[in-house]
Amino acid sequence: MTSDDEHDRTRQVVVRLDDVRKEYGDTTALDGVSLEIRAGEAVAVMGPSGCGKSTLLNIIAGLDRPTSGTVTVHGDDLGQLTETGLALFRRRRIGMVFQFFNLLDDLPALDNVALAAQLTGASSAQARRRALELFDELGIADRRNVYPAALSGGERQRVAVARALMNRPALLLADEPTGALDSHSGEQVMDLLLDLNQIGQTLLLVTHDERLATRCASRLVEVTDGRVAGEHTLERTP
Ligand code: ADP
Ligand code: MG
Repeated sequence: MTSDDEHDRTRQVVVRLDDVRKEYGDTTALDGVSLEIRAGEAVAVMGPSGCGKSTLLNIIAGLDRPTSGTVTVHGDDLGQLTETGLALFRRRRIGMVFQFFNLLDDLPALDNVALAAQLTGASSAQARRRALELFDELGIADRRNVYPAALSGGERQRVAVARALMNRPALLLADEPTGALDSHSGEQVMDLLLDLNQIGQTLLLVTHDERLATRCASRLVEVTDGRVAGEHTLERTP
């Protein structure tokens, strides 16, 4: 065991899944997944299409409930939460980034981001202030009044990352965040995720992109047919 491992073991557990199963009718999407993610880790989940990656992320995000098993995130046992409790949990604890950005087309970039904080009760002025801070940090301040349709793919994803960070989530989840981007924009988003992890953001990302995984993640979880088929610690490659 290296000293890094020892150090990691002392860190707070942010996500714990214990024997999680998810069935959709006759389809078994998750077939007994147990997994632990500690504060400050960047974990990449890889596996073939249909193996259950998005289901796993959605269950951790509280967007979907498992058929059986337990999910604890940041001390909350999600199975004990009501629908309202789960909605609050999502807004306060989770930031989520998707392949196709999921921005609102009829709001300028800054409003897309500010809305996330207003939903948790921040005033419009507070929300805009925090959103502007993030636009500065993510290098998109000059794009704040632009509508999503006029942004490049890479800019849209950076706006989506800003939105995900608004409420200082305990966990940032990303489902194929570079999947719809050309390689240059993909690299910018990779660098951004890596920077965020290096300043302490706990990250769980699903990707097909081996480069994204090896560049951003400190640990790789391989999923096959709804099961964890392997786990490896990664040496990040520049
Ligand atoms: P991945 O993200 O790895 O491609 P998914 O988690 O999306 O895989 O899907 C895992 C399996 O569960 C697939 O067989 C998929 O068809 C099925 N599945 C996912 N979501 C649903 C759903 N809402 N209803 C029915 N089947 C689903
Ligand atoms: Mg998927």
